[in-house]
Amino acid sequence: MLKIENYIGGSLVAPVSENYLDNFNPACGEVYSLIPDSDERDVARAVEAAKKAFPVWSKMSADVRHDHLMKIVALIERDLDSLATAESIDNGKPKTLAKAVDIPRAIANFKFYATAAMHTASEAFETVGQAINYTLRQPLGVVGCISPWNLPLYLFTWKIAPALASGCCVVAKPSEITPMTAYLLSKLCIEAEFPAGVLNIVHGLGAKAGGALVTHKDVKAISFTGGTKTGEWIAREAAPRFKKLSLELGGKNPNIIFADCDYETMLETTVRSSFSNQGQICLCGSRIFIERPLYEKFKKDFVERVSQLKIGDPLDKTTNIGAVVSREHLEKVLSYIELAKAEGGTILLGGKSVDLSNETYSLKENPKSAHPNPKSLTGWFIEPTIIENLAFDCRTNQEEIFGAVVTLQPFDTEEEVLVYANSVEYGLSSTVWTENLSRAHRIAERIESGIVWINCWLLRDLRTPFGGMKQSGVGREGGFEALKFFTEEKNVCVRIFP
Ligand code: NDP
Repeated sequence: MLKIENYIGGSLVAPVSENYLDNFNPACGEVYSLIPDSDERDVARAVEAAKKAFPVWSKMSADVRHDHLMKIVALIERDLDSLATAESIDNGKPKTLAKAVDIPRAIANFKFYATAAMHTASEAFETVGQAINYTLRQPLGVVGCISPWNLPLYLFTWKIAPALASGCCVVAKPSEITPMTAYLLSKLCIEAEFPAGVLNIVHGLGAKAGGALVTHKDVKAISFTGGTKTGEWIAREAAPRFKKLSLELGGKNPNIIFADCDYETMLETTVRSSFSNQGQICLCGSRIFIERPLYEKFKKDFVERVSQLKIGDPLDKTTNIGAVVSREHLEKVLSYIELAKAEGGTILLGGKSVDLSNETYSLKENPKSAHPNPKSLTGWFIEPTIIENLAFDCRTNQEEIFGAVVTLQPFDTEEEVLVYANSVEYGLSSTVWTENLSRAHRIAERIESGIVWINCWLLRDLRTPFGGMKQSGVGREGGFEALKFFTEEKNVCVRIFP
């Protein structure tokens, strides 16, 4: 069975403990590879390698760093198809999604930051007649990047690309649930002759390997994407150590639909914004608020459209809904459906797990995959679920489910829907559907979320600030924000003598 290894100091290495964890394929529910059960000793080795590489990497000009990063990009582009297959096998997501979104986005992340670092500028302030001040931005040193399982390579590169481009050396920990594409990336780094120690990848459990990274004295900053509870723990540990923190956390995003919207575009997009990646995208809209005159029509059409989505083999081109990432996560989502029923909700569609064990899991189009030929789809599938008749402030509508479950609720006025939308502890993203421009601006101003989409969803420009308000995070990623995060700003004041 394939053994994933850590990537430290430019080489693939076994964990010091020599212990490994099982890595499951969610579509067939079986172990298909092993991953290092790393601990603080592996993290310490990785930090040492990064410290050794830092003096050269940090002093390299941005265009030379660009060239190194672009060599990795060329290899990801070459391997786009096999990386998409690997992501699908490891995570359960449809390969079509990984091929259209996850891997292209990993490429875009590297391209964007490799280039952006060549276009940064610093401010200068003239204190007339006395001095000129200028801002010197210097890379922080060794930084830690921790990413979740839902968009594995996509979010992994979203962190490491700006860190590397800004001149930092990185110790990164991907989610233990989806380690495969980070491992494949480390192999591509070796092939690209990427300088040893600049990027180090340590696999393992969150609390053990991730915790050791957060608390390591020589790690200057942590860029974390994951759940709010984990973020809370990291913030508590990092604060007394005075580490810089960027936290991208959970969400419970509202999707607000006014009766004057472009109906067909809204309907088609709302199917995607609700159920893409089995609802396991932090930006999915899980609370759908519909202006009352449109409510019954939307409900009927939405249920009909969603019922046509095909649940099945993630590697099959016609599949819309793949497997849920783990048995634990499936059980969590199902428990929320039970809670919704107990809270008085009416299940309009779905609500159950799906048994696909009579269907064959096809790897025939993907002969090069590392998977040892599984037989059938005995893994973790769930029906896309639509629920109505719940109060806006019940637990189902307040807590993050992070699965293919949405609730519908009618509203009558802007004031009312803003109360519903802003009632949660989260504030990551929101979507508003209306043809009334003034209303769109009014809502955008008053809604409590770091990202507001008007008449669209997941339309991203990498130059824009990305992040959440309230318990959805602290700080912003994206654009020059991320490059700045990985640098220390120094003001240099030069006296001018008349
Ligand atoms: P977790 O918080 O469980 O894990 C995220 C990462 O942190 C994983 O690599 C995990 O490792 C690691 N980790 C866990 N515990 C610790 C610890 N004590 N110290 C250091 N690292 C730790 O989140 P999930 O992986 O379950 O991801 C889902 C969550 O991520 C959802 O809440 C979702 O909303 C959020 N998310 C937010 C996004 C945003 O941009 N705001 C984007 C995508 C997801 P391991 O998996 O090995 O335990």
